[in-house]
Amino acid sequence: MSIQLAIVVPCYNEQEVLPETNRRLLALLDRMAAADLITDASTVQYVDDGSRDATWLLIQQLSAQDQRVHGIKLSRNRGHQAALMAGLLTVPGDALVSIDADLQDDVNVIEAMVREFIAGHQVVYGVRESRAVDTFFKRRTALAYYSMLKRMGVDLVHNHADFRLMGRQAIEALRDYGEVNMFLRGVVPLIGFKATSVKYDRAERFAGISKYPLRKMLAFAIEGITSLSIVPLRLITVLGLVISALSFAMIVYVVYGALVLKAVVPGWASSVVPIYFLGGIQLLSLGIIGEYVAKIYLETKQRPRFIIEKTV
Ligand code: UDP
Ligand code: MG
Repeated sequence: MSIQLAIVVPCYNEQEVLPETNRRLLALLDRMAAADLITDASTVQYVDDGSRDATWLLIQQLSAQDQRVHGIKLSRNRGHQAALMAGLLTVPGDALVSIDADLQDDVNVIEAMVREFIAGHQVVYGVRESRAVDTFFKRRTALAYYSMLKRMGVDLVHNHADFRLMGRQAIEALRDYGEVNMFLRGVVPLIGFKATSVKYDRAERFAGISKYPLRKMLAFAIEGITSLSIVPLRLITVLGLVISALSFAMIVYVVYGALVLKAVVPGWASSVVPIYFLGGIQLLSLGIIGEYVAKIYLETKQRPRFIIEKTV
């Protein structure tokens, strides 16, 4: 049995790596076609996420050189997840694999993914065996973040990012998830179907620099929480209850001191400290609620998830 495969590659300013990525992906398609795993209609689909460099020019050239290569140009930079959605929701194929352009994920694992799909799995996660190439900071923060998400009841596949295969059935199910701001690695496990994972070692970025500066990483992290968990809102309620209980105890203590002990010290610190403390907690709580309100605001507009300018 052979399937029509499409490899979806989001690209933002990736002119340095694209030629090499393309070489390796086409070699892989050749190999899999020779092994009768995929049909000749299988493709590589680059999604240009509003790059400012020569990425789109390159995609057009690569596409002219080989009929298996296609490109989707978004109208502007909308971020990694939006670029992925643009590819996943518009590209034909029995199975779609999403992979970063920078060759950090091992392209040869795609063959194992396809075999798992043929064996009956609708979703195949690429799972990193080690994060040795990531910086200490990124490794620690990622680990802490994912364990926090887990405690908030979000079911994520450990050490999996956005390198995965999805079958047509899973893709069509994904289409029904209406959120405009998509957090794919959290939503895909919610879809269900038979899933499995394949392991690989994550490499260094082949060329160019990371397109995820700290600012984007933080925004993505908040997106992940507010997309999938309402635990932060509950925590505010719990915090409110605890503080109310504490202040009630405080009142009892003050009344007892005034009426029975007749020894109330006119305290400055004891009145000023709680004011600052509670002020801080209130602002933080408002901020968390604000995050969710902002999310509701953005989602109710139902703006398009991506706008395609042209395709090749
Ligand atoms: N990317 C994108 N839009 C963006 C940022 C990144 O399409 O706004 C793509 C980028 O071209 C790459 C993938 O998302 O293919 C992952 O980005 P990167 O490798 O820079 O992230 P890192 O591996 O450093 O977390
Ligand atoms: Mg990368």
